[in-house]
Amino acid sequence: MAPACPQCATSYHAVPVPQIHADASIPSQARAVLAPPPPEPQAPPQQSTGASVLFVFAGLAAGAALFSLTAGKAAPIGLPAILVAIGVAVRSRSRDRARQAAEQAGYEQQTRHQGLLRVWQAGWLCRGCGVAFFPAGAVGPDSAASPAIEPAEYQARVIAAVDGGHPPDQSPWSAELPPTTAACPQCAGTDHALPIPRALADTVQPVGVSASVLLAEPVAAKPTRRGPAEDPAALAARKRIWQAGWLCRTCLVAFYPAGSLAAGSPASPAIPVQRFQEWVTSTAAAGAVVQGPS
Ligand SMILES: [Zn+2]
Ligand SMILES: [Zn+2]
Repeated sequence: MAPACPQCATSYHAVPVPQIHADASIPSQARAVLAPPPPEPQAPPQQSTGASVLFVFAGLAAGAALFSLTAGKAAPIGLPAILVAIGVAVRSRSRDRARQAAEQAGYEQQTRHQGLLRVWQAGWLCRGCGVAFFPAGAVGPDSAASPAIEPAEYQARVIAAVDGGHPPDQSPWSAELPPTTAACPQCAGTDHALPIPRALADTVQPVGVSASVLLAEPVAAKPTRRGPAEDPAALAARKRIWQAGWLCRTCLVAFYPAGSLAAGSPASPAIPVQRFQEWVTSTAAAGAVVQGPS
C-alpha cells in the first residue's frame, strides 16, 4: 500500500519516485528535478614526477656518454642504465600506491553513491499536491517520515540525509539545507556564483584548466622526510571545507557564504583561486567545524 502524503493525508496519488520516470503523463521538467543522483566523478590517475625526472637524466647521461664515445674518450656507459633501472622501480612503486589510493577513493565514492540511490528511490511524489515525501524508514530502520518536500529541494534532501550526520534521535529531514544561491563578496552578484564541486563538474560551462587545478578536491598529503602521510581525519576536514566553498565565475574568486562552514560562521572575504587551497588548509588547521558525517 502506498504511504499517505503528509500534505493531503491520502495515498491515492502517491507514486514512488523511481516510477515517475516511466510515466509520460508527468511533465518532463517535474521528472528532471527528481532524477537519480549522478555517479561521482572519477579522479584522474596520478603520474610519478620522480620517475619522469630520472628518465630525463638517464636520457641526458646517455647523450653525454655517446658524445664522449664519438670524441674517443672513456664514457660512463653504466650510468644511464642505472638511472633507467631506478626510474622503473620508482614508477612501479608510485603506480602501486596511486592504484591503492584510487581503489580506496573509488570504494568510498561507490558506497556514498549507493547510499544516495537508496534514499532517492525510497521517496514518493504525491501527484495531487505536487510534493515529494519520504515515508518512515527511508533512511534507516527507525527513521521518521519526512514533511512535504518541494520537488526542487528533493536532491538536496537526499544528500543531507546521507551526508548530514544527524544524531540518531533526530529526524534526518530536520538538517538545514545548504544555500542554493550566494552573493559574491567581490561583485555582489549571485548569477555566476555556484558551489565549487558543482563548478568543477560542469561540462557545459567548464571553469578552465588552471582554475580547475587550483580548486581541485584535496588529496592526502604524501609522506615526507619530515612527517608521515596526512591522517584520514585531517584529510576529511579539508574535504568538508573544500566542499562548502563557492566560486564566482566572473571574478574567479572563491568564498564562503555566512553559515556555510558551521552554524553562525561569518561570511568569508573574496579568496583568489590561487590562494584557495592554502585557505582550506589553514581553516582546517584552525579547527573550523563543518557539519558532516562524524
Ligand atoms: Zn498529497
Ligand atoms: Zn563576483
